[in-house]
Amino acid sequence: MTPPMTTTPIRPLVAGNWKMNGLAAALAEAAAVRDALPALGAGNSDVPPDVMICPPATLLAQMAYATRGSPILLGAQDCHWAASGAHTGDISAEMAKDAGASAVIVGHSERRADHGELDRVVRAKAEAAHRAGLIAIVCVGETKGERLAGLTLDVVARQLEASLPDAASDAETVVAYEPVWAIGTGLTPSNADVAAVHAAIRKALAARFAAAGLRMRILYGGSVKPDNAAELLSLPEVNGALVGGASLKAADFLAIIRATP
Ligand code: PEP
Repeated sequence: MTPPMTTTPIRPLVAGNWKMNGLAAALAEAAAVRDALPALGAGNSDVPPDVMICPPATLLAQMAYATRGSPILLGAQDCHWAASGAHTGDISAEMAKDAGASAVIVGHSERRADHGELDRVVRAKAEAAHRAGLIAIVCVGETKGERLAGLTLDVVARQLEASLPDAASDAETVVAYEPVWAIGTGLTPSNADVAAVHAAIRKALAARFAAAGLRMRILYGGSVKPDNAAELLSLPEVNGALVGGASLKAADFLAIIRATP
């Protein structure tokens, strides 16, 4: 197996994407994660993972209040590229930050599919996140058809090139590799396929961002569950996970956090 290209330990990140799920009662799940985290300590990790929850925007401020004083980070699931203005229904990165977020997911495949978001829009949103002082979690990943056509690495390279701002640094930028066909389906690529895509992403990041590209976190996302997390998260160049369905229940999300090597 090829050794990882990175030498200094990268702090993993386990981020839960609640998507359009969660009324106020679901804050109890975040509170359960908050209460369990101190006992987890470093777990299996040389470097304990950062833990993040990305609730719907309606719960951000309440969740910030419920998790104050705990190490749980909060993220928004999307932002507009403008700081303010006539954009009915949207929220800006500045608003997400004001509500308690320290990060925002941009370019999730559900945004790309449901809202026609193109790479240049994703890039503008990542730039907006940086402008507001938020970490941008930039999602990339191929569809089933693209994988079957052997285009995975081309698609991911193109999305990375066009979606990441030129000034991206490792402190404020995270890449999430999420094969579209693995999201919410219970399917995952083979370990070898995940490792191959992450290696290609690392190579592209290092070529474009030099040392920062070697330190940028690359998350895997797509049907990460308690029973496959340890295996997926121990693959080379996998620096954590973006977790959808399994982040909705504290017990499952905590099991994934515990499985982080
Ligand atoms: C996601 O939507 O980011 C995701 C990875 O979902 P799931 O874990 O449910 O596949």
